[in-house]
Formats: sequence, C-alpha cells, structure tokens
Amino acid sequence: MMLRSCEEYRVLLMGYLDGELDATQRAEVEKHIHSCADCSAERGSYENLNRMVQAMNTYTESERALDRYWQQTWNRAERGIGWFLFGAGAILLTGYGVFEASREFWTDPTVPLIVRIGAGAGGLGVLVLLVSLVRERLMLRKKERYTEVER
Ligand SMILES: [Zn+2]
Repeated sequence: MMLRSCEEYRVLLMGYLDGELDATQRAEVEKHIHSCADCSAERGSYENLNRMVQAMNTYTESERALDRYWQQTWNRAERGIGWFLFGAGAILLTGYGVFEASREFWTDPTVPLIVRIGAGAGGLGVLVLLVSLVRERLMLRKKERYTEVER
C-alpha cells in the first residue's frame, strides 16, 4: 500500500467526514487516524467545525421561520387595516350620499315632522347596520387569527 503524507491525509480527511470517499480510502484514512495523533486531533477540529456550521444552519433556519412569521403577521395586519379603511370609507360615503340625496327632503318645509323622524331613524339604522357589519368582519378576522395560531 502506498504511504501518504499527513498533508495528503488531511485532504482525504475532509472527504472522509463529508462521506465522499470510497471504502478503500475510508479504511486507509481510519487506519492512519488511529496511528497518527496529529491527524486524529485534526479530525476532531474538523468535526467541531462541521458542528458549528450545522449550528449556524439551524440558526438561519429558525431566523427564516421568524421572517415568515412576521411576514404573515404583517399580511394579516394589512388586511385588517384594509377592512377598517374600507368600512370607514363606505360608512362616510353612504352617510354623505344619503344626506346629499335627501337634502331637498330635509329642507322642504312641507314635509311633516313625523316623516322626517321616520326617514332620519331609517338612515341612522342603515349606518348602524353598516358599522355592525364592519365590526363583525373585523371580529371574524381576529377569530381566524386565533384558530391559525392553535393549528
Ligand atoms: Zn498523520
């Protein structure tokens, strides 16, 4: 069997730890490690390095998970804000539209008070229903958030 220098064994050692060597080479490296204290120590430090690299990979993996979490949280917040603005806008526009459309009605002195009260109550009712719809929508979103966390 050809004798290699420790230098050559160190190169083989990396392949050995990465599982890239064939059976003959593996046996050769193992035999040398058992008989050479220097290369045995070298093997130990390579293994430590491998563990550190693995630990770093695990860290970035958990960091990635954290990124995903914040991304999702932001998406939900975005949708929540979207619904809130949409609801507020719809309520304002509806209120304004109803008021504008009925401006003549409100300023017409021939309309009896009872009809004004009736129309006012009806309009207010529509607004309250809209607010309630938006609130329900927002509550639903909150609930969805909790069930997603439980999953
Ligand atoms: Zn050696």
